[in-house]
Amino acid sequence: MIKFEEALDVVLKSVQFTLKSERINFIDSLGRILAEDVSSDINMPPFDKSAMDGFACRKEDIKNELDIIEVLKAGKIPTKKIGKNQCAKIMTGAIVPEGADCVIMVEHIKITGDNNKIQYLKDDTNNNICYFAEDIKKGALVLKKGIGIKPQHIAVMATVGYIQALVYKKPRVGIISTGDELVEPATIPGKSQIRNSNGYQLITQVSSAGAIPNYIGIAEDSEEVTFAIISKAMKENDIVLLTGGVSMGDFDFVPEIMIKAGVDIKFRSIAVQPGKPTIFGTFKTNRFIFGLPGNPVSSYTQFELLVKQLILKLMGCEELYSILRLPMGAEYTRKKSERKSFIPVNISDGKVYPVEYHGSAHIHSYVGANGITSIDIGTEKLEIGELVDVRQI
Ligand code: AMP
Ligand code: MG
Repeated sequence: MIKFEEALDVVLKSVQFTLKSERINFIDSLGRILAEDVSSDINMPPFDKSAMDGFACRKEDIKNELDIIEVLKAGKIPTKKIGKNQCAKIMTGAIVPEGADCVIMVEHIKITGDNNKIQYLKDDTNNNICYFAEDIKKGALVLKKGIGIKPQHIAVMATVGYIQALVYKKPRVGIISTGDELVEPATIPGKSQIRNSNGYQLITQVSSAGAIPNYIGIAEDSEEVTFAIISKAMKENDIVLLTGGVSMGDFDFVPEIMIKAGVDIKFRSIAVQPGKPTIFGTFKTNRFIFGLPGNPVSSYTQFELLVKQLILKLMGCEELYSILRLPMGAEYTRKKSERKSFIPVNISDGKVYPVEYHGSAHIHSYVGANGITSIDIGTEKLEIGELVDVRQI
């Protein structure tokens, strides 16, 4: 049995390559991992730009009555230079005309003369100008290789004209649920049966992680069937996930079958709770296989903690996970502390509240949870206010 931190290290170190990249329309790149650095082909702003609707003028003139010599809307090129006691009516986003060094806000002026003059009603003003190239210089790096693409990155791509995004390909993840007791969700379970929830949980965890789920189905608890299904799955997928059949029961022969199928097992159990009998192995340097425990909460957490990191690393992601440090909002105790625990929690008002959780079979314990908190080996009690590690889910 190895510690969780070692297990994660083993998983990540086994990934010695990234998948190939492909060019796609930038609009379709949301959630993908960027495979090259992107630099700007323009300066932003491309000109001194008005930050306000108002009047562009010389700051030294703002106490005087000013003549309106031009109206500048966004997209228009000014034709006149601003001289002494002159101004141009200007809209947000328009080019600030030559000669002007500030924009006084339309809210603080009154129209005078024959509707062709203004008087500013305050003593001072901000410049209210976004200056040429102050945000982005032409040629500057704007997006870094390895980021997970979000809508705010799409805006930058649009701004710099990066319309064909280079992204890493998605790994294909084969999903197999083992167990003679399993039936598919559309079936009403018989007396000794339960519905297969892990398969569907994993399909959607895989898609949320940005990979392609390939649901293979339910494998009965037979050595021949398991061998055939694992061997075929490893040929057709980058990653194979099995659930069930990994603990100590008479029909838990997934680990042995993996070895028979040529898998190089890297670990067979981790000092965690839930998820102790998690198996990880590789096949021919470029295939990865996990045997996840059958209990749904174990399968869920071990996917979030280990499988997801492997998927992201294969896709060239530079930020594999982010952990928040937040104070406990309620006390939490556990009886045993020889394993690292991961428990479902609710993060609310910046504090961490454990939710009702009866153990790894408690399928709906995570329904109302929005985080996973870890409790280190040797720690039996978390006090109110104590800082803990939490990952958002
Ligand atoms: P196992 O790891 O095969 O010993 O399974 C442990 C527990 O998880 C047993 O109660 C199984 O019935 C249950 N289980 C196994 N596979 C699934 C699945 N795909 N969906 C829901 N529960 C499962
Ligand atoms: Mg089983």
